[in-house]
Amino acid sequence: MDKIYLDNAATTPLSEEVIDAMVDVMKVNFGNPSSTHSFGQEAKILIENVRREVADYLHVTPAEIIFTSCGTESNNMIIKSCVNHLGVERIITSPMEHKCVAETVLDMKKRRGVEVVYLRPDQKGDLDLNKLEELLKNSEKKTLVSLMHANNEIGNLIDLKKVAEICKENKALFHTDTVQSMAHMKLDFSEIPLDFASCSAHKFHGPKGIGFAFVRKSSGLKGIITGGPQERTLRAGTENVCGIVGLGKALEISLNNITEYASYIQAIKDYTIERLSAEIPGIKFNGRSAEKDKSLYTLVSALLPFKDPMIGLKLDMKGIAVSQGSACSSGASKPSMVMMMILDEEEMQNSTPLRISFSHLTTTEQIDVLVDALKEISSSFEIEKTNFEHR
Ligand code: PLP
Repeated sequence: MDKIYLDNAATTPLSEEVIDAMVDVMKVNFGNPSSTHSFGQEAKILIENVRREVADYLHVTPAEIIFTSCGTESNNMIIKSCVNHLGVERIITSPMEHKCVAETVLDMKKRRGVEVVYLRPDQKGDLDLNKLEELLKNSEKKTLVSLMHANNEIGNLIDLKKVAEICKENKALFHTDTVQSMAHMKLDFSEIPLDFASCSAHKFHGPKGIGFAFVRKSSGLKGIITGGPQERTLRAGTENVCGIVGLGKALEISLNNITEYASYIQAIKDYTIERLSAEIPGIKFNGRSAEKDKSLYTLVSALLPFKDPMIGLKLDMKGIAVSQGSACSSGASKPSMVMMMILDEEEMQNSTPLRISFSHLTTTEQIDVLVDALKEISSSFEIEKTNFEHR
């Protein structure tokens, strides 16, 4: 049987057309974009075309798009430069951020003495925006607010416009990690007064090793990699032309199909929730994961009603790839911060989180195979429980 890939929030397979576009660049457009001769200028034109395409998608100007190597680098650049160059003394963030934001914020605290304030989520994973407003009103310190648009473990979405407006009214800078939502959702940054955002191509069927940062022109942000004048001096280093072209092709395919993919994938998600709810008694869904419009349509985070730290491995042995957001407090895998925030003690001890993430390539047949495998694993726990009760 073919293997089943249900871990699209970790990364997505490359589209054939993306591979073809990249191979063309590798074979033909090998020039250095900084060279003034025709080889260089042809490569430069390819980059600028993609920059314009990204800018059109986000309704911003091309000068506000800075190509980087990935989402991690974009987030590092933004947060570090806010502290190092823009005088940020305080960062308000949440404990649910991706490690590349969480660790960078901690690094700024340790090395630069930045004050860090965490907005704690409630059990649904929601953040209290009144609290954010209160924190911003009660301090004169120059503040950066860093809150992700879509959570990569449970899929919760924040109201980007509302948060951006609160930040603007209170003169705080606003950075949002949009790695999970870019190219999956329509985003109009001319309507949302945010300052910085990040993107990574491998989350939407593009190549690894390429992403970009959106940097509002008026912000004055600087780069953290110094050297040549590439990327308007915000990111020195010879550009990854083939990666940028791959990003552009992947974005083009996503945007051309955005409505169709969204409704197809949402239907797959609904089917998954329906089948899991019918077949695994006691199953729950984490955060806002099962709620339409409040979470990403590309993933669902389930909470299985038994404790099985080996579930990812067991499914992998059956040829099914998912991600195991671990809630265990001991053993080999560390508990996920997101799960620690939203689950109670009893859930942490007796249940297993499982992230199932989809793409337009996912089929209901694949979901049926996953559900059958989970039913089998779940029934082995039922048998164990019954044997124990009858001893
Ligand atoms: N931010 C979020 C929300 C992510 O899910 C990821 C990757 O999983 C990243 C940032 C890091 O992106 P990259 O893999 O491009 O460094």
